[in-house]
Amino acid sequence: VPIIKLPEPYSVTLARHSVNDSLMAHGEECVLLSTYHPSDGDGMTCPNCSDDIYDSGSNTCTYCFGTGYSGGVRYARRVWGLFSDHRADENYSARGTWAPDAREFQTEAFPLLLEHDFVVRVRHWDTNHIPLELEGYYGIGQVIRNSLRTGNRFGQFYWDVVGQRASITKLQTNDAICNYPVLGVAFPDIGVGGVSTVLPPVVAPDTKVIYYTPPTNEYSVVIGDGTTSVYPVVHHLGTTSVVVAVYEVSTGELVDVDTFVTDANTVTFRFGVAPAPGSCRVVIRG
Ligand SMILES: [Zn+2]
Repeated sequence: VPIIKLPEPYSVTLARHSVNDSLMAHGEECVLLSTYHPSDGDGMTCPNCSDDIYDSGSNTCTYCFGTGYSGGVRYARRVWGLFSDHRADENYSARGTWAPDAREFQTEAFPLLLEHDFVVRVRHWDTNHIPLELEGYYGIGQVIRNSLRTGNRFGQFYWDVVGQRASITKLQTNDAICNYPVLGVAFPDIGVGGVSTVLPPVVAPDTKVIYYTPPTNEYSVVIGDGTTSVYPVVHHLGTTSVVVAVYEVSTGELVDVDTFVTDANTVTFRFGVAPAPGSCRVVIRG
């Protein structure tokens, strides 16, 4: 691991960009539903189903979507995320209930996830950032914040979180939160639901030494013209030891394609069917 002496904002910013680049290359866009939490202190309890004694929402309440707080969701935001493959082993929650689809989810540094938030997996987006088909709603369990920590400062907070991962469990479609509108709703970069989520600035520079693994070299290009099926891609990475991925721009689905390392600066892709204009993104890592 190289040792690089850097002012902290640069290293934190670079690491966040590296995490986002990786998620954009290998992950998918999804919708984070950030809910109200008791610790926030600003949520209005649901007038329909919540009371001071039980302080929790009814799973059939269509007013708070089962969260116990008026409106249910603080904000909904499009984020990049990576869902692990389905874990087939049996999982039991603390309550002993069967969890048929538990997996791990990784996402950007912000907005900060909290346990009991939700993430909605989207199968298809249109070009205006509108989900056209949903895969499912997932409840977020334990959240682990990955941070670049420097020296004697309280860590894993706004100033040093570079990415997050969480255990998630797919919800039954009769869960109240699954009625929260996501399908057909536009999700621009800023949050919807009233609260924008501008990234907080990182703290002032310091001169401490940090340990940082720089991102691997990467070359990425969009290809496809509707007629050509063989594409030599010149990447200038100067190595024949490369990792490649080809995926559809519109869906994020990986494309099965024959790959040949032509030389240290070229990888050739041979498609069974000529890809449509601008339809495929090639990512080559050295
Ligand atoms: Zn309610």
